[in-house]
Amino acid sequence: MLTDFLSPIIGDWPVALRWGAIGGIIFALIAARYFLAAGAGFGISTLLGKIAPWRKLQNRDFSRQQITREIAYSMLSTLIFVAVVGLIIVMTSAGWTQLYTDPYAYGLVWLILQVPAVLLIQDFYFYWMHRIVHQPAFYNRVHKTHHLSTNPSPFSAFAFHPFEAVLEIAIFLVLVFIIPLHAIALITAGLLSLVYNVYGHLGYEVMPRFLANSPIGYWLNKSAYHNQHHRTYRYNYGLYTVIWDRLYGTLHPKADQLYDQATQKPETEPVIFSHGKSISPATRPDS
Ligand SMILES: [Zn+2]
Ligand SMILES: [Zn+2]
Repeated sequence: MLTDFLSPIIGDWPVALRWGAIGGIIFALIAARYFLAAGAGFGISTLLGKIAPWRKLQNRDFSRQQITREIAYSMLSTLIFVAVVGLIIVMTSAGWTQLYTDPYAYGLVWLILQVPAVLLIQDFYFYWMHRIVHQPAFYNRVHKTHHLSTNPSPFSAFAFHPFEAVLEIAIFLVLVFIIPLHAIALITAGLLSLVYNVYGHLGYEVMPRFLANSPIGYWLNKSAYHNQHHRTYRYNYGLYTVIWDRLYGTLHPKADQLYDQATQKPETEPVIFSHGKSISPATRPDS
């Protein structure tokens, strides 16, 4: 664990300073991971704007003001995540959680299966949490912060109201008590969560058609769907999958049509404005 690794260096420090150093390192790691993933996503979206403009999901560019706001809220969320990770470290040190570090402790089969298991549980939790925060009682107080971006950029991956940041990570806090999880599996699940969030807020659709049209792809959430959620404020509540959206009838009726249009290169060249932007995304189904 991080505390064991650091103890030769900070073991003699006063308690407050020691926890300050650990918190600072966790913050730096989570923030670096966010900037790497969101920055890569932003780079991909900029490149796609030049080489595959038909993949753009809305006929608007990300504004500087929007990106600044998304980063500011994401840093606030990072602080919340640091507090929760700190709490998990303290409780694990006290022997209260089922978090473990010996890869053989529960067998290699469980070691491999636990990441998909965590992702599926998180997916179900997120769907219902997301539907609940869209209820009038919570929307204005909590979830509106994330929806300030109607055309979200990859930097909105963590752009939540602090209370929603707690809700987002709470599932991990619960899981460490009830399921034996390897520390690396938990970190991997957190990383995949960030990567899928960046994909969902890319502003462009990049999922290959062969994957989307496969039996697995049918159940996977897509950037087009989540972008549509930001534009319409309803439908498409899923995180990794649309299992629950399809099951409960909350997938947008034109979600698949939107994906198809965004991933099909138009036969004729898209009409170009004088400032060089394609207008084809403006005709995307959105209601
Ligand atoms: Zn929402
Ligand atoms: Zn979003």
